[in-house]
Amino acid sequence: MCILLICRYTVSVAAAAGLQDDSFDGVVVISDNAERLQGDSLSNIYSAISSHKKIDKSESDVVVLMCSGVPSSRLIYCPTGPVTRDYDDVRSFQEAAVRAVKRALSAGCRRPLLVGLNHERFSLSARVTILGGLDALYTPLEIRESCPDRACKADQVGILLPGLKDADPEVKILRALTVGRTVYKDIGGSDPERTAPPAVADYVTEIFKSTCIKVNVISDEAVLEQEYPLLAAVNRASKVVPRHHARLIFLEYVGEGSIDSTLMLVGKGVTYDTGGADLKVGGCMAGMSRDKCGAAFVAGFFQTLSMLKPKGIKVIGAMCMVRNSIGSDCYVSDEIITSRAGVRVRIGNTDAEGRMAMGDVLCHMKEKAANEVNPQIFTIATLTGHVIRAYSEAYSAVVPNGPAKEKGIPELLSKSGEKSGEPFEISTLRREDYALHAAKSEYADCIQANTKPSTMTNRGHQTPAAFLAMASGIAQHGCDSSAPLPYSHLDIAGSSGSFPQPPTGAPLVAMAHAYLLDRPLQA
Ligand SMILES: [Zn+2]
Repeated sequence: MCILLICRYTVSVAAAAGLQDDSFDGVVVISDNAERLQGDSLSNIYSAISSHKKIDKSESDVVVLMCSGVPSSRLIYCPTGPVTRDYDDVRSFQEAAVRAVKRALSAGCRRPLLVGLNHERFSLSARVTILGGLDALYTPLEIRESCPDRACKADQVGILLPGLKDADPEVKILRALTVGRTVYKDIGGSDPERTAPPAVADYVTEIFKSTCIKVNVISDEAVLEQEYPLLAAVNRASKVVPRHHARLIFLEYVGEGSIDSTLMLVGKGVTYDTGGADLKVGGCMAGMSRDKCGAAFVAGFFQTLSMLKPKGIKVIGAMCMVRNSIGSDCYVSDEIITSRAGVRVRIGNTDAEGRMAMGDVLCHMKEKAANEVNPQIFTIATLTGHVIRAYSEAYSAVVPNGPAKEKGIPELLSKSGEKSGEPFEISTLRREDYALHAAKSEYADCIQANTKPSTMTNRGHQTPAAFLAMASGIAQHGCDSSAPLPYSHLDIAGSSGSFPQPPTGAPLVAMAHAYLLDRPLQA
């Protein structure tokens, strides 16, 4: 059912023939300055807004105006507010588009025509505007499945990009990014039963059936225990509930032509985080169904790949789907578990399960990387509350190791994020991060976590990257080694969105800009 609805969503987005295209029943326009709309193609819109400004100079929010020469004579206009101050960024366009499309829907519009305009300061403002508008049309997976009459907020969406001769390639990109975000939102945002690990495996298998994406689901408990012991430890308390059993989902895309880069993406997919034996108390558990947005990102990114088919790149993904439950067999602090890399890991806090879910899978990627062209490894996770304390809810953090830093990966993500409206902050791995996880006695080689929440820990979002490097053996692949391996940890606890609103999709668009959109696409 889900694939059907995703397809229906996909086909409903198309380039419009022009402003007068009567397939639509309203036009949505976003601009920082109505004066920009002067000129031939948008002159009707400019006149309608100018007349309105005679009676309302506030320009503070979205308005619905009568406008001749546009479908159904209905114009929805939303000013972005100021965008030229030092601290303004392209997100103002995205936010205005969300407000405008919501207003269009409440006005009764079912077939909106979204107009994307470029701005001299923001090279991608048109794209960001349209993506914002499409974002506002997302309907949660559970509503699509349970309430078919509410499945689609719009019947059809048109895209108009004045100044672009052939809009089709751009529409293809917009569609691929939006459907990628839809997959991310479906997996990341749905409730912990609808998106329990086996259910996510079914969803992913279904959406990539008959596509260029190879899917391999590992469900055998013996294999998980043998090959991914850190993940298997988190899974222990769920073993009595078959529908909560862990799944490790591998995805692979190989583009046409000779491969020049290999991305390796490991996503945290904790479908529910009770904290485990270190139980989340005092109301801190609500919202913990969102601890799977890293894995949701991986699935969404592959959805985008499957639609764009960029040439010359290979991408290997892993979705680490596991539930952190509490029960008589749950793993506890003080246990020592030997990781895939042979590192004896002393458990310090069972609520630090994300690094456990990913650590051995990261090690597996490290092993695979030896045979790949120009490998770049990432962990993507809603890992810490600390990243929100440090950077607020709007920003992803990138924490690179030495080789990733040398390769310029943080700057690449920062630049792409800034352009595409999914900004990154760059963090630095320091000796204190390794020191926190160093063994404190001869029993173990490293400590998984301290006993405090990340928000109460100095460098709380940087230190987990050090642990992941230590437990996976990537720490031995620094700049001083004979085989340096670029590894970057992305903490998206803030940027993935706030419960119970749908996840944002970040940093899917930024990562696509960094790695996919400059490449030739397969026809
Ligand atoms: Zn946790």
